[in-house]
Amino acid sequence: MKKLVLSVEMVRDLENIYQELESEYSRVAKELNFSCSSCPDNCCDSYFLHHTYLEWAFLWRGFCQLTKEKQSEILERCRAYILQCEKDEQKGERPQVMCPLNENGLCILYSHRLLVCRTHGVPATMTRPDGQKLRFPGCFRCQDIVDSKFENREPPAVERTSSLRKIVLLEDGLLEHKRHLAPKVRLTIAEMLVRGAPALPRPHCE
Ligand code: SF4
Ligand code: SF4
Repeated sequence: MKKLVLSVEMVRDLENIYQELESEYSRVAKELNFSCSSCPDNCCDSYFLHHTYLEWAFLWRGFCQLTKEKQSEILERCRAYILQCEKDEQKGERPQVMCPLNENGLCILYSHRLLVCRTHGVPATMTRPDGQKLRFPGCFRCQDIVDSKFENREPPAVERTSSLRKIVLLEDGLLEHKRHLAPKVRLTIAEMLVRGAPALPRPHCE
């Protein structure tokens, strides 16, 4: 297996994309007068799967900066998280388990958190490569605000298409332009951390 490691340039480019999305998020949140403060919920127990080696490598980079003790503690929580998700799924329920990186309500890898963690909340739109436009309504609290203020109008939304295209290009670079050959990623944060650094089978790299 060949480990996938981000170059300094890739880290910089990914951080720039995150920054772009966060600025857009702030613009929309401001227009909606929306914020997470005093929310009774904590989205870090939402069940999300992540799909890029790029974000996996970035998360892993942050994880490696933690002390060995903290890493072991987190990995123990990751294993418990995976078991609980499996039990929930066996019962036909969507898992709702607190993310192993959340401690006392806060993300301990905040600067390395994934795209979904950075964009969940306000409405968003994106256009798929086949031209189909998708619209995400935002979290339940934001939907309440939208319903009360934008009865017959489109609410402001984060347009994700250009940022996601840039992520795909970066992912392709990380995979040495053989993205189409790489096994698909479909993992929770806990599964990523338990597996360790993302890696590809050797034949892919030759
Ligand atoms: S990575 Fe951080 S922000 Fe994302 S779900 Fe986990 S604790 Fe929450
Ligand atoms: S995104 Fe929405 S549901 Fe999640 S913490 Fe913020 S306000 Fe609450």
